[in-house]
Amino acid sequence: MESHHIRCAGSPCVCAFIVEREAEIERYWKQSRVAVLIFLVEIIGGLLSHGFSVISDSLHVFVDFAFYLTGVKVAKDELRALAPQPHSRQIGAYSHGFVFFPVATLIAFHAIERLQGEQGIAPTPLIYSTILGLLGNIWQVKIAGKVHNITEKGVWFHNITDCLASAVALIAGLAIFFGVTSAVDGWASLGIAVIMFWSGATIIYQARNGHHH
Ligand SMILES: [Zn+2]
Repeated sequence: MESHHIRCAGSPCVCAFIVEREAEIERYWKQSRVAVLIFLVEIIGGLLSHGFSVISDSLHVFVDFAFYLTGVKVAKDELRALAPQPHSRQIGAYSHGFVFFPVATLIAFHAIERLQGEQGIAPTPLIYSTILGLLGNIWQVKIAGKVHNITEKGVWFHNITDCLASAVALIAGLAIFFGVTSAVDGWASLGIAVIMFWSGATIIYQARNGHHH
């Protein structure tokens, strides 16, 4: 961190910028690590339970994982340039938003297929993996919540919708456990697809209005 101190000596303003960007990079790394954990747990949960809702949520988390990596890259670019890169931030937000649409479309089509007929779904692994997924999302809300600047408010809000999506899959698991038809798994997957469309639209809207994350 030698360059840090040399550049810091010049101006307190530059110093604050560096400290902020370094903290942002750390947050995005943390977010990406938690996203990988959620993804792996939910993929395993999906394979064990044959539930599609938890698979849908894992795909969503994977898209988020890619976004956190772009967040690291943008913050590193800003650190190198010692200047805000609003254009790169906007591109990062747009790609996060737009990638949701094709993924959500694929999920929706498969979910609709699953609405027909009974599926052999084991609720217990579905419940456990989605509880862990939900806890992971709550952890992500806490990581994002330490931020007070406007640029990352969008991430915090998005993490709230992540909680909602994993809660929907958890509710499906609980419903099947208590004897409701396994078609609820298809309905939950459809719900997760709808949340992804809504999230994607929200992210793009915020990016257009300058609240890019
Ligand atoms: Zn998400």
